[in-house]
Amino acid sequence: MQIFKKGENMKERIPPYVQKLIDKGSIAIKLQFKKPRRETNAYQFPEDPLGEEERYTPVKGIVHKFKNRVLWKITYRCAGHCQICTRRRQIGSPEGDLTYEEIEAGADYIRTHPEVHDVIISGGDGMYPVHDTMHALDLLMKIESVKVIRIGTRMPFHSPDSFRTKPFKELLKKMRFIAKRRPLYVFVHMNHPDELTRKVLNVLKLIKRTGAEVGTQTVFLKGINDNVDALEHLFTTLYHNGIRPYYIYRCDYADGLGGRVCSFKEEKNIMTELRKRLSGPAYPTYIVDVAGGKGKIPPPLGFWKNSGTRTCFDFEGEKINLTLTRKKAKR
Ligand code: SF4
Repeated sequence: MQIFKKGENMKERIPPYVQKLIDKGSIAIKLQFKKPRRETNAYQFPEDPLGEEERYTPVKGIVHKFKNRVLWKITYRCAGHCQICTRRRQIGSPEGDLTYEEIEAGADYIRTHPEVHDVIISGGDGMYPVHDTMHALDLLMKIESVKVIRIGTRMPFHSPDSFRTKPFKELLKKMRFIAKRRPLYVFVHMNHPDELTRKVLNVLKLIKRTGAEVGTQTVFLKGINDNVDALEHLFTTLYHNGIRPYYIYRCDYADGLGGRVCSFKEEKNIMTELRKRLSGPAYPTYIVDVAGGKGKIPPPLGFWKNSGTRTCFDFEGEKINLTLTRKKAKR
């Protein structure tokens, strides 16, 4: 479903907290939020490369691509508009707002598909229309076949002060209730260490105190975070604060993002180097969400010769023959 006319992408929307960080001089944040004067048209990418609306939406808001889990887009709105968003085709459009009945219909779909045991509330931002988030959570808690609930959000960074308001305090209270009964995960979009201010980290810790598992998702972005030191800093800081870096994605080939897609080779070099530098739990899974297919596929890193499994290179670059190692171990 195409929401905006071609070329008429989402409007610039920078939350006050994010604007303050830009004013303090963060180029990495500025590049994510300021609408470029001219968008690069070097690549002709599709608007919906993963076919979310075209192929996998049985009822409004639900994206059912993999058998046992669904993405539930409760809105197309976000507190801030990240110009690097893979869903730029629809962010900010009121067409994604779900009515009370549409939220009920989404829950009905999940209820009548008991093979779905994992639901990701997202959008837009899965925490932005906070009352809708709470309504969706209430309904999911009544569905026995739903074993795990996840929420995808960027609110802790877009608007950390929101978490001191009454509606968000209610949401946190509800999350505390849920986390005692079912695994609850909150995944926050974080791309650069400049985003990890003390205030933002405090909100992540506040969410963690509800009993929810808190993790992050990052996207490789050319000119923003395609830098091994910046990513080491980001993932180490998260890890030291008890937050698990979960995924780092290759940027989707979505319309308008051509200028932000990094060199694949460079990404693999960075992830190879990070594997050496970071502790295991600080290292996110590097994946490509494959357009035209199904799956978040981890690319091979530079430790494997020609992607084979017989020879690899260790952290020191030493060539290891796994066949010989196996024979030795038998003796
Ligand atoms: S918060 Fe997420 S969904 Fe919203 S604009 Fe940013 S990247 Fe897109």
